[in-house]
Amino acid sequence: VFELIDTVARLRASLKVSDLVRGLVPTMGALHAGHAELIRRARRECGVVVVSLFVNPLQFDNQDDLARYPRTLDADLAMCRDLGVDIVFAPQAGEVYPQPPECSVDVGRLADHLCGKFRPGHFRGVATIVLKLFQMAQPHRAYFGEKDAQQLAIIKRMTADFNLPIEIVEVVTVREADGLAVSSRNRLLNPEERKAAPSLYRALAEAERRLSLGERDASLVREAAMNVLSGSSPTVPLKVEYLEIVDAGTLQPVNRVTRPVRIAGAVWVGSTRLIDNVLCVLS
Ligand code: AMP
Repeated sequence: VFELIDTVARLRASLKVSDLVRGLVPTMGALHAGHAELIRRARRECGVVVVSLFVNPLQFDNQDDLARYPRTLDADLAMCRDLGVDIVFAPQAGEVYPQPPECSVDVGRLADHLCGKFRPGHFRGVATIVLKLFQMAQPHRAYFGEKDAQQLAIIKRMTADFNLPIEIVEVVTVREADGLAVSSRNRLLNPEERKAAPSLYRALAEAERRLSLGERDASLVREAAMNVLSGSSPTVPLKVEYLEIVDAGTLQPVNRVTRPVRIAGAVWVGSTRLIDNVLCVLS
């Protein structure tokens, strides 16, 4: 059954009829191949698949960014139908937040670095909406992409800390042929910017290569990655917001690499901010 549902009450009513395993794929819409991978996985593993489409104002620290965020409801619905989604939950902001929330999820030190450092309040907004979506859809499993590794780590930790009876399923990053991580924001890039954008992944891959060659000094690994970024694109300069090497579990920066780490970066390509990361498990 494919249904577009736009109010919490209707969502809850249609979930009640089913005792099948429910999978939730939370998204902000503008669906692409990365989202499709999450949905396919949920479809294989769950009896009922719910996809939420909601551009959550609470997690935008910048109002321009919120206004510019791509919205493609008709195409999203077509994709959901093609992928065999049962329920699409696409509420209005007023339905999700009938009153400005007083309570929110404090995500602690996990937001101190990477995106959290540059987007104050962002992960508080993310964790809060995900907790609300969990309450509304009551899933047994929820699907998240490794592309947003800090978000994933925070959601896993929130689930553990609050004893939420939900299995968090992690899906590897889907990339374009040239390495660029697929993202809703890629459609904001002009052709020149699109050509320059894969440098972020190339820089992360270079850092990964240095680690695989035995380099353990995080600052040297980082420098190698930064060199790729600075030498990459004469026509479209990339502005590095951060490029950090952090412990894969705690997301705290490391000086020497002795455990699995995540190498993560955010760059501005023109007026579009792109993020990416790779996990490095030492051999
Ligand atoms: P968003 O709509 O950007 O909030 O993303 C919704 C979900 O899709 C999040 O769990 C993301 O991590 C995931 N996602 C976004 N891009 C990709 C990608 N390229 N590969 C895999 N998952 C992705």
